[in-house]
Amino acid sequence: MNLKGFTLVEVLVVLVIMSILSLIAIPKITNYKATAEEQTCLINRRQIALEYDIYLLHNEVDHDSFHWNKFLENCVYQICPTNGILKYEDGKVNCTDHTDTKEEEVPFL
Ligand SMILES: [Zn+2]
Repeated sequence: MNLKGFTLVEVLVVLVIMSILSLIAIPKITNYKATAEEQTCLINRRQIALEYDIYLLHNEVDHDSFHWNKFLENCVYQICPTNGILKYEDGKVNCTDHTDTKEEEVPFL
């Protein structure tokens, strides 16, 4: 049985491998978080736009900033994970932190 433990070369090899793995993993993990926040905001904005349209129809009013702010005050859940400012324009809810330009791009055929 070897009671000396690890040699310096073995420890250095392990440290180099761990640092390479962390250099690969950390950017991917942070990118996943940003993508998840953007997707969450997009889905919540779509849902809130539908709810706001129903609110306008139910109350038989047209959109204006007063009704939009009143609607947002009664909203019980957080729409944007990064607390972006939401605006209702042309039937869509836009966020100052996130855009949904990816889905509007026309694919090249
Ligand atoms: Zn957002």
